[in-house]
Amino acid sequence: MFNISKITRKNIRDLTPYSSARDEFNAEAKIWLDANENPNDTGLNRYPDPYQMDLKNAISKIKDVNTDKIFVGNGSDEVIDLLFRAFCEPQLDRAFIFPPTYGMYEVSAKINNIEIVELSLKDNYELPDIEVIKNDIQSKGLLFICSPNNPTGNLYPLKAIKELADNFQGLVVVDEAYIDFSNSESAISLIHNTLNLVVLQTLSKAYGMAGARLGMAFTNPQIIRVLNKIKPPYNVNTLSQRKGVETLKNKEIVKLQVSQTKAQREMLITALKGIQCIKKIYPTKANFILVEFNDAQTVFTKLRSEGIIVRDRTKQIEGALRITIGSPEENNQLIKTLKQL
Ligand code: PMP
Repeated sequence: MFNISKITRKNIRDLTPYSSARDEFNAEAKIWLDANENPNDTGLNRYPDPYQMDLKNAISKIKDVNTDKIFVGNGSDEVIDLLFRAFCEPQLDRAFIFPPTYGMYEVSAKINNIEIVELSLKDNYELPDIEVIKNDIQSKGLLFICSPNNPTGNLYPLKAIKELADNFQGLVVVDEAYIDFSNSESAISLIHNTLNLVVLQTLSKAYGMAGARLGMAFTNPQIIRVLNKIKPPYNVNTLSQRKGVETLKNKEIVKLQVSQTKAQREMLITALKGIQCIKKIYPTKANFILVEFNDAQTVFTKLRSEGIIVRDRTKQIEGALRITIGSPEENNQLIKTLKQL
């Protein structure tokens, strides 16, 4: 049975959170003299809504989730860190990852003095059967699943995610930063009945808002309350909140851009298939393609000399470079340069 106090760090359970001026009074008023703000209207002279209710209402409509199950962070990177701070007791709890995967899980774990346990994926980068890892995950803490996975691009089935959550005492965190580029259902549908599941999404990718730093967590209200207790009081600034609401209103533009990216993804895969120096193209559900080259270093250097920067993933997978899907012109330039090799 899910018990929030069992998985929350003792110092956080005992914490009396900071109470900001906006926590103590957030109704209508004529004169605001409670937060030591500058009274002159600069458009930004007031502190932002600490709980981002306009933005959460907009997210709620799009994702079909009640606002009490939504947390907004300064990027999903902030949410990852807050999850460690709330739910991982240093030197006691552990963080489980399936490498190769997004690097911040390990970095955040180390910052928070949490041991990282690497679990093996199958040869085809699928999740292992639950029976194989059941004994290895007998610990509290966090278990990360990145789906679609960065950098391999593959998606994990909801059934396997649910099975992992049912067999783990801590929180399973499903990072869906790239879910909008897949045609698959989000793990958000599982949060209502699987209480130890946190789903992360972001406005940084499909919504084109990486510069605004808007990450979202979808989970049960008890976990949201703990995150609210420990977050910096005004973690999401006014400009980003406004811009987020505006972007979420332009659903059609986002849909169009996502379908353009998907079409470019297919075009790139087809073009890459005809290029000699390539060993393997990973199937992808994201806005990037992982490609193994015979000589990745030469390719990387050549692209760089032409002003094209891709991500070197050779430390994770031999010969692998991760290529983001760009605009049609950028992708054509990439192919042209690769063909010269
Ligand atoms: N998760 C994954 C899998 C990512 O690849 C990234 C960014 N590269 C993030 C989270 C961070 O997202 P945000 O911009 O919301 O902090």
